[in-house]
Amino acid sequence: MLLKTKILLLLAGLFSGLLFVNLFILSVVISPIFGELETREANKNIGRVIDILESDIKAVDSFVYDWAAWDDTYFYVKDRNQAYEDANYMPEYSATQNHDLYYIWDLKGQPILNKALNEEGTAYVAFDGFPTEGLPETHPFLTLNSVSSKFSGLIQTRRGPMIIAARPIVGSSMKKPVNGILVMGRYLDNDLIKNITQRSRLELDIWSLTGESSLNIPKEAPRNLKMGDSENVFEQGGKTIFVYSSYSDILGNPGILLRVSMPRDIIVQGKSTIAIGIWLALLSGILIILALYFTLQRLIISPLSVITKDTVRFGKHEDFTHQLPLARKDELGLLAQSILNGIKERDQTEKTLIEKNKSLEEVKEELIRSKEIAESSKAFAEKANNAKSDFLSRMSHELRTPLNAILGFTQLLQMDSRNPLEGYQKDDLEQVSSAGKHLLDLVSEVLDLAKIESGKVNLKIETVNIIPIIDDVISVIEPLATENEVSLTCQEVLGGICLIKIDKLRFKQIILNLISNAIKYNRSKGSVVVSFEAQVNDKMRIGVKDTGYGIPDDMKGLIFQPFERFGNETVQGTGIGLTISKNLVEMMGGTIHFESMAGKGSFFYIDLAISKVPTEPLKVPKISEPVSTPLKRNEKRTILYVDDYLPNRSLVEAVIKGLSNTDLLSASNAIEGIELAQVKKTDLILMDIHMPGMDGIMAFKKLQTLEETKDVPVIALTADAKAELRSELLELGFKDCLTKPFNISDLLNAIESNYRLT
Ligand code: ADP
Repeated sequence: MLLKTKILLLLAGLFSGLLFVNLFILSVVISPIFGELETREANKNIGRVIDILESDIKAVDSFVYDWAAWDDTYFYVKDRNQAYEDANYMPEYSATQNHDLYYIWDLKGQPILNKALNEEGTAYVAFDGFPTEGLPETHPFLTLNSVSSKFSGLIQTRRGPMIIAARPIVGSSMKKPVNGILVMGRYLDNDLIKNITQRSRLELDIWSLTGESSLNIPKEAPRNLKMGDSENVFEQGGKTIFVYSSYSDILGNPGILLRVSMPRDIIVQGKSTIAIGIWLALLSGILIILALYFTLQRLIISPLSVITKDTVRFGKHEDFTHQLPLARKDELGLLAQSILNGIKERDQTEKTLIEKNKSLEEVKEELIRSKEIAESSKAFAEKANNAKSDFLSRMSHELRTPLNAILGFTQLLQMDSRNPLEGYQKDDLEQVSSAGKHLLDLVSEVLDLAKIESGKVNLKIETVNIIPIIDDVISVIEPLATENEVSLTCQEVLGGICLIKIDKLRFKQIILNLISNAIKYNRSKGSVVVSFEAQVNDKMRIGVKDTGYGIPDDMKGLIFQPFERFGNETVQGTGIGLTISKNLVEMMGGTIHFESMAGKGSFFYIDLAISKVPTEPLKVPKISEPVSTPLKRNEKRTILYVDDYLPNRSLVEAVIKGLSNTDLLSASNAIEGIELAQVKKTDLILMDIHMPGMDGIMAFKKLQTLEETKDVPVIALTADAKAELRSELLELGFKDCLTKPFNISDLLNAIESNYRLT
């Protein structure tokens, strides 16, 4: 809800509240005050009427006083002379003096004079308001026995109420003994009532309450009116208020009922005052609220709404009107100022942000450029790596092919029993063989290192028990230890189980390298110990300790660098083994270290993570066992050898020549080989793999399709030392795969095991 609406609602609520309070005060507090005022005024008015009535009674009394103190009256009581009566009691005189009654009693209450003016005022008649036989003894008039005593008030007569006054007759000296009681009276007739009405300037009604001529209480008189009540009774009509008051006679009985009627001016005035008050309150309320609203609107709401609009536009980053009430010296001015400061700060921050963004963009572009360069460098490095590994692979193949012939013919010469060599020739040939083998080792290890460094080696990490692997290595290496006169021992492991996460083959390679180094670089009668030590960080330390030459301190930093041999060139080795081992250990998540002291020996160790759960034992692809077919005696057999490299063909020819009942067919390419196999009965094919034109694999597939050759066993002879190739060839159906350079005996075994029985 908008602030403006809220303020409007608040003001409306305030207005309604004030109006209600006003109405409440006017109706509950002020209105009764007017009622009271009206009652007071009514009481005052009826009091005035009663005062006038009593002043009239007093006027009668003053006459009685004069007449009672007159000696003639005194003597009349005594002598009752007619002259006094005739001279003083004349109807016309009484009429002018408004005296309707003269009555004299002696002290015993016996009437002496009884003169009442008739209704016409023309003659006296006997008054019947008092008992004619005389006053009873208890009558109050008979108590008037002192000079100052008097009695006045109202009495009832048949003609109606009469005001009277009674005094003792004492004569002029006021010292004579009282000898009678004088009473004078005046009827409270219409004339007198009119007179009182005129004098009081009030509307007056009088009713007699007793006597024959009395009127009963008027019908319009209020129900709760009780005669004799000292309290006045009020009756509020629509526009007139009636106030009733009863006036008792001299004996204390109900005498007359007075009623004054008054217009209800006070109430009417009061009501109109209240109405004016209400209207005034309403109007002033509206005016105050309007004034308040417009003041608030001018002072707070509209500057606030300007601030709000500008703030919203500011928030939306839109241009704003800049009508902020900055000139004001109050809180809104401060607010506007702080908003303006905020805007300036934001603008400044935005500028800074834009600048930072720009520089970030630049950095980003720079990064993208660097990334592109890095990527292209990576791609380049990858290309270079691939090229390197292709080159090395080719080199390895190209080197292995002639090496096969060199080592093969060397073996043939060494094995030739029919033409035994001279002693020096044997030594020379041994040199050739050793150099050839060294070259072969170099080729193999350089190729392996190149593959590792170019990331082409994928390890198969699994949790295996390393104890059998190490036992295996020891049994392989033992002949070398015996040859070098070095004792080789392995620390016992509880239960013979030590589970480590490794690649089995590569682990074997590492351990073989470490043990063979410990043997090779040991002294005669030295020792080598293989140990296992669990570390605190869930690692197993597999160590190889020797008592050999040790490594001099200045060379320790180079131990894992390739081709570093530290003056041990006389010992067979390539200087690559430790480099390969370090790479492989790190690829398995382990570390390799050594401790060595020149002349004392070395301790090489690797730390690898211990594992609790063994992985399923490695499933090696099942290679069909070569079916050994017994050679039928005297049966001729034919072997076909396909190879593009002449020296290798010559080597195999020389080897086969030594076999009885065996003919060799040679072909320098695959097509020629296939044709030969088709036309000549062939029992076994020896197939080179990498040949120009059709290679050995394609040739094998072709042979499989031909009726004449499909059953001929094929053995691969390849200079490609990749382990994957061997598996691939065996999968395809080659019976065996020998890597050049091969041992002559290995070749003979393979031939013997695989030739076809016809
Ligand atoms: P290689 O043994 O084929 O030369 P290595 O990389 O395995 O290649 O070893 C590198 C060199 O480190 C070795 O030529 C040798 O000088 C030195 N070396 C390795 N192991 C030992 C050892 N246990 N004791 C002394 N020297 C060693």
